[in-house]
Amino acid sequence: MSAPAPFRVLPALDETNEFFWTSGADGLLRFLRCQDCGHYLHPPGPRCPVCGSREVEPDAVSGRGEVLTSTVNHQSWDGSAEPYAIVIVELAEQQGLRLTSNLVGVDLDDIEIGMPVQVTFEQHDDIYYPLFEQVNRGS
Ligand SMILES: [Zn+2]
Repeated sequence: MSAPAPFRVLPALDETNEFFWTSGADGLLRFLRCQDCGHYLHPPGPRCPVCGSREVEPDAVSGRGEVLTSTVNHQSWDGSAEPYAIVIVELAEQQGLRLTSNLVGVDLDDIEIGMPVQVTFEQHDDIYYPLFEQVNRGS
């Protein structure tokens, strides 16, 4: 079975998270990045945990990464019956830059640790959920 995307509760946007949830409007995933040392921060914070700088701004990443760990949800929490995959993806840009999301469009039995993935977005009004889909090695 190919993994669908589950029902979503929309996040409440505020000034600290709006860039993240609306970033997919142009197809790019963004994280806060320290403008002094280049470190990406996620979740967002007011200052860089590495160098202490307050010069942190949203910056686009490649959207490429790999599956660090995954699980398949079979419980119908919301009345939808389809099992779906929950993954933690580590982005290619930085070790430890991770996003918990869903892996979509892949057979649930084919999901592997280390599987290369890339971001894709699921739009709900102004909000673009960053999800991931499989990419072929070398592509
Ligand atoms: Zn820094």
